[in-house]
Amino acid sequence: MLQSIEQKIGQTTPISREEARWLYTESELPTLSRLSTAVRNRYHSPHEATYLIMAIINYTNICVAGCDYCAFYRFPHEEGAYLKSFDEVVERVERLVSFGGTLVGFNGGFHPKLSLPYYAEFFRMIHKRFPELGFKDMTVAEFMFACKLSKLSYDEGAKVLKDAGTRWIPGGGAEVLDEDFRKRHSPGKYKVSDFFSAQKAILEAGLGSTATMVIGFDESLEERLSHLETLRKFQDDTGRKLPSFLCWTYKPYNTKLGGKEISTEEYLRWLAVSRIFLHNFKHIRTSVLTRNEDALLGLKYGADDFDLPLEDEVTEKAGAHISEDFDSLLASARKLGFHVKKRKPFEPTYGIWEKEFVESTFFEKKFPSTPPPKKL
Ligand code: SF4
Repeated sequence: MLQSIEQKIGQTTPISREEARWLYTESELPTLSRLSTAVRNRYHSPHEATYLIMAIINYTNICVAGCDYCAFYRFPHEEGAYLKSFDEVVERVERLVSFGGTLVGFNGGFHPKLSLPYYAEFFRMIHKRFPELGFKDMTVAEFMFACKLSKLSYDEGAKVLKDAGTRWIPGGGAEVLDEDFRKRHSPGKYKVSDFFSAQKAILEAGLGSTATMVIGFDESLEERLSHLETLRKFQDDTGRKLPSFLCWTYKPYNTKLGGKEISTEEYLRWLAVSRIFLHNFKHIRTSVLTRNEDALLGLKYGADDFDLPLEDEVTEKAGAHISEDFDSLLASARKLGFHVKKRKPFEPTYGIWEKEFVESTFFEKKFPSTPPPKKL
């Protein structure tokens, strides 16, 4: 099996679901590092990685979806429920700016009273106040709910936001895109096919979006593989407009679902498999938010980019620890042999970026890889 996978990687042919399953369950860590680095090197310089400083600003925790893996939400009128004022949000953005941050991701919940025009006006005001920053205005999941509440189709909703200056609606809220998983843990959130319809409308409106995943709940390997498979097909069907795939890990504290955090090894194995399987994604991003310093090992398992997050109440409520010591995080990446460069927020991509693909590098060097870390 390994030989045929190596051959496919060498020929830049997509690997199959069966091969991804085999890689995850059977292959050695150094092999995963070597193969995922080979795919990474098609698109990126071998010893370079990029990052930016960002904050996920949670403007409300009011949500009616009731996902059992979430420690963040409050039902309306429940103790602790909040909706931040414009000035309170501005205060959080100013804090980010004081840390040299350049990207804000807004994330709330399924608020039963906030219509899409309300969001559009809020985003318009905040963009005007901070024209120098990049914004990811709401996740696909929140967009879907706000469109339904406002009785707008996804096409209409995307247009409303675009007219207000929104440029990105990232693919957050995806967790595991598998119908059985959704039924078990968040039946009120969305159906998988509906998620992709919304994301398609977002891309067709000329807005940018991204791909995300969260692992470490109780999802099966088959459910994880379905997520990657559906995503890879969607990416090809829509002209490869999603620039990046980011994999977080579930934080189980204070949630109804509970459970245990997955190990660093499990995370790195999955990151590597994702890099190899998602051959049609340019960037694979590793999660400092949920793995801290260990996330940087992901640069040796196919990732090429990461955020240095300043805040995100959603994961912090569930046990994430955010370090503001960015220098020591960057030093860890350097210690692994990477030249780290601060980048600007991505621009939305409007079409196939395959021309950036450097096939010859791969063939010339045949599985060029930096040595895997001695120990995790
Ligand atoms: S994960 Fe998001 S949609 Fe689900 S309950 Fe939490 S805030 Fe609501």
